[in-house]
Amino acid sequence: MKVAIIGGGWAGLAAAVELSAAGVEVSVFEAARQLGGRARRIEANGHTLGHTLDNGQHILVGAYRETLRLMSTVGADPEQLLKRIPLELSYPGAGFHLRLPRLPAPLNLAIGLFAASGCNLSEKLSATRFMRILQASKYRLETDCTVAELLDRHQQQGNLCRYLWEPLSLAALNTSPQLASAQIFANVLRDSLAGRRADTDLLLPAADLDRVFPSAAADFIQAHGGKIRLSTRIEQIHTPLEIEGETFDRVILAVAPQHATSLLAKQAETSAIAAMLAKYTYEPIGTAYAGYSPEVRLPCPMLGLDGGSKGKLGQWVFDRGSLCGTPGVMSFVLSAQGAWEQSDSETLITTLHGELEEALARKLPQPLWHRVIRERRATFCCRPNLPRPAAQSPLRGLWLAGDYTCADYPATLEGAVRSGITAARGALMNRPASQ
Ligand SMILES: Cc1cc2nc3c(=O)[nH]c(=O)nc-3n(C[C@H](O)[C@H](O)[C@H](O)COP(=O)(O)OP(=O)(O)OC[C@H]3O[C@@H](n4cnc5c(N)ncnc54)[C@H](O)[C@@H]3O)c2cc1C
Repeated sequence: MKVAIIGGGWAGLAAAVELSAAGVEVSVFEAARQLGGRARRIEANGHTLGHTLDNGQHILVGAYRETLRLMSTVGADPEQLLKRIPLELSYPGAGFHLRLPRLPAPLNLAIGLFAASGCNLSEKLSATRFMRILQASKYRLETDCTVAELLDRHQQQGNLCRYLWEPLSLAALNTSPQLASAQIFANVLRDSLAGRRADTDLLLPAADLDRVFPSAAADFIQAHGGKIRLSTRIEQIHTPLEIEGETFDRVILAVAPQHATSLLAKQAETSAIAAMLAKYTYEPIGTAYAGYSPEVRLPCPMLGLDGGSKGKLGQWVFDRGSLCGTPGVMSFVLSAQGAWEQSDSETLITTLHGELEEALARKLPQPLWHRVIRERRATFCCRPNLPRPAAQSPLRGLWLAGDYTCADYPATLEGAVRSGITAARGALMNRPASQ
């Protein structure tokens, strides 16, 4: 069986690895000059030479089981490439701190919550009650609503809501709690906070994103006889399935929804999916890198800033010195739509620098260089009841992959990887699509 995979992001690569491991001949067609899609290394230039920069600071969690499994399959050792730390939410500027101890679940969450500082006992009891209610309902909501409505309905207020639930929701769904799907948030809580102890850990990349998966995946695919064609944009999928003059038994379309729309609209069988995807809206992510002198360090690898309050912009700052061995390099993360989008790069860095000084309550030297990366369509906007297409398309032999097809998850690496595996397994079953 010959399978073409359109798109060399994490979904397409996951599909290609899964198929290669099963002895299938794959060809990956990628429009860009490099693999990785929305999770990729970026070339350093000028002042950034010698530093490890990505298109965006990515956070993985222990619950990303399929990502970790495929990393191991292709020989990208998660122990070396990811720094595993217990979940720690530290907002020094606001006096809030929560760290999950290394104890078996659910003790880790219970003790972590009760030992948290910067919030009161009634907030802690209310948060525990909220988790119990979700657990009792097996994390299924009767009807989907926004995260803000869900939190309000369960009286989640005060600092614990502000520094635990809201940032977790924003980080995982990249959509403000006022717009985000409560059901998808509940799924995230089910698999992370309410999962095994190891599932709650943060896994922060200790190398550039290319090394974390795409480059080892490419080596694995090629070692198994697969082909990777970079700088090859596919404009149309013909039936019988033909790509670039070559005939394939199956095609897996693993591109972002905004790119899938035009390809799917060209075939009558998939035009309804194209119409569904055309209604999607998107959320941006900004990553501001600031290069300080090497002695500048954060007290922990990831620090919360008070973004949103009193006109502040920063949400998280990561110490890439302790993570990636590039001392002095900080990455500030700005998730979803917000005031940060209106700031030019100079103003943004000056503002974030000031916010970091305020959080640390000390003066810092000025950054020596900076680089701001804005991904305007970083993820789909994860609204309540967002329709998501199935992996099997109505066009015979065409399968869909990509973070947007993994219905249980928001747009994440794990969603992308799972979607690729699902499409690959579907294609392998050799069952004709209903037509
Ligand atoms: C800045 C940023 C920060 C993020 N942070 C996190 C995080 O902390 N944790 C997390 O889990 N997730 C995070 N995400 C989300 C995560 O990166 C994505 O969900 C995931 O990478 C999507 O992978 P994908 O393979 O589905 O799609 P993509 O990465 O979009 O891959 C699709 C590929 O298809 C190619 N392509 C498109 N059209 C064609 C065509 N016609 N022919 C050939 N090739 C084509 C594209 O070039 C691309 O390489 C972040 C995303 C961004 C942008």
